[in-house]
Amino acid sequence: AATTTLLEVADLHGWYGESHILHGMNFEIRQGEVVTLLGRNGAGKTTTLRAIMGMLGRSQGSIQFEGRQMCGLASNKIAKHGIAYCPEERGIFASLSVEENLMLPPVVRPGGMTVPEIYEIFPNLLERRRSPGTKLSGGEQQMLAIGRILRTGASLLLFDEPSEGLAPVIVQRIGEVIRTLKAKGFTILLVEQNFRFASTVADRHYVVEHGTVIDMIKNSEIAANADKLHTYLGV
Ligand code: ATP
Repeated sequence: AATTTLLEVADLHGWYGESHILHGMNFEIRQGEVVTLLGRNGAGKTTTLRAIMGMLGRSQGSIQFEGRQMCGLASNKIAKHGIAYCPEERGIFASLSVEENLMLPPVVRPGGMTVPEIYEIFPNLLERRRSPGTKLSGGEQQMLAIGRILRTGASLLLFDEPSEGLAPVIVQRIGEVIRTLKAKGFTILLVEQNFRFASTVADRHYVVEHGTVIDMIKNSEIAANADKLHTYLGV
């Protein structure tokens, strides 16, 4: 089948100061896929997203996005090429309303979603559009953090543990949102520790340990690999 590779990460190394954290990450994501990085605490998943986004002090290797080299570029340049990042801490501004938060990230490419289209996916944000960021529940904050990067025109979305700390019913909603975004053509790289959640949304999973990818498991083969996954994730 004619599937295009959207992101190709090859021999990626990354450092925090003197600490060498990423030791040669290798993985790829095809256009329209939802792919996860699974792994234990401290394996280097968040660091990988930060490296892709140009937010590590030092990184080395290759990060090809749509055939262009991102490694070494500044964050704002990377964003302009069409990659958007939704960090674990969500970054909602408490002093701004929902709608003001939504309007915050700059539109970098044509083809982004309009505000009404975003409210269609997140009806509760429409209801809350004049509420300050502080008044939102954790789930609403997560929805807003996802919603506001959809305006930018980015085609590759990086999500860091969107399910974290949320009630099961909200985690289900986030799962629906991710499936909707996939159906709309977005490509998604998801960092997760909750592999039961990951298995409801993803096409493939890369297992990360000590800053490298140690295995790749197709979601369709996840049941057959359950024992292996339990060992990797220590669950
Ligand atoms: P987590 O679920 O904890 O986020 P992770 O797989 O995403 O797990 P990372 O956050 O990428 O792991 O962390 C990888 C390693 O980098 C850990 O050993 C962590 O202690 C270290 N680290 C993370 N942030 C920093 C930082 N700002 N300065 C120095 N070391 C850091």
